[in-house]
Amino acid sequence: MTWALIRSEYHVADFGYFAGLLALAVVQAELSRTVERLRVRIAGAPHINMTSVWTFGGVLVLPTGLAALLAVLVYGHLWLRVWRGMSQRPTYRVIYSAAAVVLSTLVSGACAGGRFETGLAGSALIIAAAVAYTVTNAGIIAVSVRLHTGARSARALFGGVDDNLLEFATLVLGGMTALGLVYEPFLVPLVLLPVQVLHRSVLVRQLEVAARIDGKTGVLNAHAWHELTQREFAEAAGAQDTFGVLMLDLDHFKRVNDTYGHLAGDAVLKAVATTISEQVRDYDSVGRFGGEEFVVLLPRAAEDDVLVVAERIRRAVQELVVDVPGAEGTRRVRGLSASIGVAMYPVAGRAVDRLLHVADSALYQAKHTGRNQVVSMAVAA
Ligand code: GH3
Ligand code: MG
Ligand code: MG
Repeated sequence: MTWALIRSEYHVADFGYFAGLLALAVVQAELSRTVERLRVRIAGAPHINMTSVWTFGGVLVLPTGLAALLAVLVYGHLWLRVWRGMSQRPTYRVIYSAAAVVLSTLVSGACAGGRFETGLAGSALIIAAAVAYTVTNAGIIAVSVRLHTGARSARALFGGVDDNLLEFATLVLGGMTALGLVYEPFLVPLVLLPVQVLHRSVLVRQLEVAARIDGKTGVLNAHAWHELTQREFAEAAGAQDTFGVLMLDLDHFKRVNDTYGHLAGDAVLKAVATTISEQVRDYDSVGRFGGEEFVVLLPRAAEDDVLVVAERIRRAVQELVVDVPGAEGTRRVRGLSASIGVAMYPVAGRAVDRLLHVADSALYQAKHTGRNQVVSMAVAA
């Protein structure tokens, strides 16, 4: 970046653009402090960020070194005024994302050349710069997520479709801001309005997601699972599809709490939820029903397949080893087990509550005939 700063040639207009973009970034950050703090607190989602409007705008109108400096100042200001002291945003992570943005700025600056050109060639350059910016930033974030969490799915590494559309919308606004700066600078402050609206819509979407997820384990909460299952059944009505419903309760879980403490118990619950999710298909839904009780919906599956999945989950829980934090350092919890009750739609019933009732009876039977086993009502009846 220093090299880029020394190497560039500057025009007077550059400093005007630089000051304008920095001022807008500061005003926007100040206007949306509350929204941003709330957003980070509920989701901690790393890469959704409105700052690309200013940094990408900078890439298009500024010499690359100045654009990178702008990115540093924008992040510095956000850290100072918004993120500092928030546990969800530790300083090292802010530095990491700022570095990713600076690198994206440098790479995409190398594409755009820091100078506007009119005509088709100019438009192609802007699009190339946007692609270079996104690819660099997403690539760096994906590597970091992979290293920190070991996640492999495209969704975990690159975010969902909505996240990426939002990032693209932000870059489009950045492009418009750059055009505005060059051709109609006095209109540029109007860009603050769509940026604010977009920022709020991100918060609303994250609140919606948070309202569906069980905070302790990361799977669906009971209400969301129930609603989703009801919708699936309504869609299946009239079709020949069969669905499986599993209800799982950990065996003697009280002992885990008594031996290792409640916090360790929580860590075990999270590990169990992850294990269950790993054993099912992407379109199966795992929910936490309360306490140490989980439910799974397996759409469009025959009973034999459902029993295979249930047995696989049972075995995976039995083999689970969880490292839990304790007063005297990390301890290892093993020897867990779970009892699982199975009910099939539509033979056991067509209403969600009826199926849950049947699965619960099967679970009760599993508990009272030895635990650590799968019982299906259709088979047992
Ligand atoms: P059983 O084999 O009969 O199921 O025995 P159990 O000990 O698992 O009994 P039960 O299912 O009735 O008890 C659930 C226990 O789970 C009681 C409670 O201490 C614990 N528990 C419930 N919710 C939580 C939670 O959110 N965190 C932790 N750590 N423990 C929980
Ligand atoms: Mg239990
Ligand atoms: Mg229980």
